[in-house]
Amino acid sequence: MTNAELNELKKRYVANGAASPATQFADRAENAVIWDADGNRIIDFAGGIGVLNIGHRHPKVVEAVKAQLDKVMHTCQTVMPYEGYVKVAEKLSQVTPVRGHAKVMLANSGAEALENAVKIARAATGKNNVICFDGGYHGRTFMTMAMNGKVAPYAGDFGSMPGNVFRAPYPVPYHGVSEDEALRGLKMTLKTDANPRDTAAIVIEPVLGEGGFYPASASFLKAIREICDEHGMLMIADEVQSGFGRTGKMFAIEHSGVEPDIITMAKSMADGMPISAIVGTDVHMDASGPNSLGGTYTGSPVSCAATLAVLEVFEEENILERSMALGEKLGKRFAQWQQDFDCVDNGRHLGSMAALDLVSDKANHTPNADLAAALCKRAREKGLVLLSCGLFGNTIRFLMPVTIEDEILEEGLAIVEESLKELVGQPATA
Ligand code: PMP
Repeated sequence: MTNAELNELKKRYVANGAASPATQFADRAENAVIWDADGNRIIDFAGGIGVLNIGHRHPKVVEAVKAQLDKVMHTCQTVMPYEGYVKVAEKLSQVTPVRGHAKVMLANSGAEALENAVKIARAATGKNNVICFDGGYHGRTFMTMAMNGKVAPYAGDFGSMPGNVFRAPYPVPYHGVSEDEALRGLKMTLKTDANPRDTAAIVIEPVLGEGGFYPASASFLKAIREICDEHGMLMIADEVQSGFGRTGKMFAIEHSGVEPDIITMAKSMADGMPISAIVGTDVHMDASGPNSLGGTYTGSPVSCAATLAVLEVFEEENILERSMALGEKLGKRFAQWQQDFDCVDNGRHLGSMAALDLVSDKANHTPNADLAAALCKRAREKGLVLLSCGLFGNTIRFLMPVTIEDEILEEGLAIVEESLKELVGQPATA
């Protein structure tokens, strides 16, 4: 079917489908390129939203999935366990930098991982409250919507949210929130609203994702660790977007040397197969009663096979080093654009978790969300998927596969440059 025909079906039958601006339907994909239903070639700088760090349909993962399909497609792991689940648990326990000996629960999505992390923290501490951060994003289930600091457009239409969630400022010096101020805010939250005696956990993204790609400093993360220890609260690092090699380490928290109690992960775990994980210190992971964790599909055998293949690819193809190298390249290009364009500001990256801001006034960091939307639209017309994010909607984030070929990376970056040039009329010399 053509894009036009599929769009008609989407409008008629897909919930909320008419509201989505995307009109090209993916027909097939390979590494960093997608071909749509009309045969158009599109470069993917979104990686399915950070899911494809090793590229679309990595051959090794495809092979592992096919082999698993010939063995077992599904059993519920609490009813009839299978090798893939325990192997994934063993491997993740070894590579995830949580305190002490780690145990693992698998789920299906990022939001489910956060839901279960909170359940585990409540069971482990016997306390109810969680503290989350301004600008944070954790998912679209009710608990995670309540946890989100970034509320629009996710929670506005859905009535009241679960309680026991409190908020603290995330340090973003570029927008005037210093680390000291953020810490003061956190301490104030603990003093006034979320009594530490009732608080089970602090949940933090080591790099703010949907909220604008801002890494927290090592000293801030260390302070959170200390506050958690002081008050018997668990530190939960949400690495759903920053994990699995995006920042040049397996997990972003490794840049700080801090060991949280629990890390949640999902994107890029299985090259697009649905799976997520909650990895935490064994005493906490074992705290709840028998059969209290899990679900029909959690950690499907097929997704587990994909995850094991992804972990092998990380070793064999030096994905972490390549992530660092890609980030360096992007950082240089951002610096060039900042010189060339009055509207480009605040280029930043931790490994290849990279972003820049579009502004109408550089001196005052005035966000220009309209330009960001226009840039993404123009880029799409020229054959590039580009995504914005951030509290002000003016951040352009770069989440292309780490394995992207040099020529395709250059081609995509040239599209960004040309689109910007067309939109703001300044020369791009890079
Ligand atoms: N946490 C973070 C940090 C995320 O970036 C996301 C997704 N963008 C989620 C949780 C939710 O993941 P999912 O969409 O798989 O539920």
